[in-house]
Amino acid sequence: MMSIMNYKNEVFTDFNDPKNKKAFEDALKKVRGDFNKHWDLLIGGERIATEKKITSIDPANPDQVVGTVGKATRELADKAVNVAYDTFMNSWRWTTGEERARYLLKTAHLLRERKHEFSATMVYEESKNWREADADTAEAIDFLEFYAREMMKLDGAQPVVPYPGEENNLYYEPLGVIVVIPPWNFPLAIMAGMTVAAMVTGNTVVLKPASTAPVIAAKFIDLLIEAGMPDGIVNFVPGSGGEVGDTLVAHPKTRMIAFTGSKEVGLHIQELAAKTSEGQIWIKRTILEMGGKDGLVVDGTADADYAAEQAVLGAFGFQGQKCSACSRLIIEEPLYDAVVAKVVELTKKITVGHPSDNPGMGAVIDKSAFEKIQSYIQFGVDDGGKLETGGKTVEGGYFIEPTVISGVKANHRIAQEEIFGPVLACIKVKDFEEAVEVFNGTEFGLTGGLISNDRSRLERARKEFHVGNLYLNRKITGALVGVQPFGGFNMSGTDSKAGGRDYLLLFMQAKSVTERW
Ligand code: NAP
Ligand code: MG
Repeated sequence: MMSIMNYKNEVFTDFNDPKNKKAFEDALKKVRGDFNKHWDLLIGGERIATEKKITSIDPANPDQVVGTVGKATRELADKAVNVAYDTFMNSWRWTTGEERARYLLKTAHLLRERKHEFSATMVYEESKNWREADADTAEAIDFLEFYAREMMKLDGAQPVVPYPGEENNLYYEPLGVIVVIPPWNFPLAIMAGMTVAAMVTGNTVVLKPASTAPVIAAKFIDLLIEAGMPDGIVNFVPGSGGEVGDTLVAHPKTRMIAFTGSKEVGLHIQELAAKTSEGQIWIKRTILEMGGKDGLVVDGTADADYAAEQAVLGAFGFQGQKCSACSRLIIEEPLYDAVVAKVVELTKKITVGHPSDNPGMGAVIDKSAFEKIQSYIQFGVDDGGKLETGGKTVEGGYFIEPTVISGVKANHRIAQEEIFGPVLACIKVKDFEEAVEVFNGTEFGLTGGLISNDRSRLERARKEFHVGNLYLNRKITGALVGVQPFGGFNMSGTDSKAGGRDYLLLFMQAKSVTERW
């Protein structure tokens, strides 16, 4: 029997083990067999066919379709919110947290059984290599297991101070319909994490997946259904962000929006959610987790080789398409040349290819990312940076070589704006004072770190590096659920912490009940 309170992170798969390698190859084959599948919308348990479709493709082989899903209209988006609202009012809000948590535990069990199939889907749909895909699936399992247990703690009466002659209690209640809008870059983990956090706290959900990552979301919905999720709890409404997204956010029956994605879209949602729609009787709540321009400082006391290795790991995992990716390497003068040289040497060793062959890097997500990243590489050079390695595209798909640009100044565009691709900007600073200033000198504040052997500087970084997730003497990516609750400051978001103990409280409101004896 599984213990309710003992939470452990899912262990990553060791692909050096021939058994695991074979199992993953089998899963890749199975996923290829599903390439012509189609998923309709799901509203109130009903599969709804649409006239238009969204076609998901393999970024490493763009002619290859990975699957199709229905494409919602504004009318269907409106219907989904109404159905979710009725389901909330009539049934789901009255269930106990323990009952709801069990759906998550069951789903985690099913996902663990089919782990490689989900990971293999992300190999084709998002161009993740095996390790990155496996980590994404492990994180989704972690969210299910972690939030299930957190909900059990928040279920029922919460302790308050006793008062004579009365019984006093505090209860956490759900909010209502929550619109969940995830990004494509952790298309299983973040999508599932936001969805199940909303549902386990007693809310109903309208999920609009990212348009470049709808198949993995559709497969997760199938899993929730298999786990016995009742009709109308999670409604699946793929569609265009601009059209369907706005309808969902502005709907008078939407109570909250849980979003992860770019700063531009996040701020737009914030504005739209602040407007009161006709018939709306609450203030909408938002969680908006947005971009980053994450820096790693290497000071003069660091080991140059180790620093370079950690920087490269953080910069190029999943082609740099992580909100936590190391995109600024800030190096103190005495070590600058040595660190840059080592970074270049390691970067040149990264292989690029179809992720089903498990190279170092796959393709970037789509044509517009492919073009945007190339223009940022050009900005880097135009502003006076030196292209040390990479910068070129590779035939066959949306491949961009891992790219290092040195001699970047703190105010250059590639040191200020999120590129979201495999581009690392190296910035030289004269001393640690300047390093702190450059580190904090962007509008973002998501992840960051310091590599140093100086105790006092590590202490200063703890206090003065203004980011939500700070890593000392290691790479700045790879946060684990429950271990490193995740979310950023300033323009990186609304300061929530996914995978942390306070996260579920954001999806609930507290009710105090007093009965006089
Ligand atoms: P995005 O372009 O902002 O899209 C995110 C989601 O918003 C997608 O589902 C998109 O749908 C939808 N959307 C677009 N326009 C909308 C609108 N007007 N109203 C409502 N929804 C709308 O971001 P992305 O390219 O998917 O993801 C990359 C970004 O996410 C990066 O900036 C990255 O840093 C950030 N990110 C942050 C975190 C974090 O925890 N802070 C984690 C991961 C990623 P369509 O796909 O249909 O356009
Ligand atoms: Mg795709």
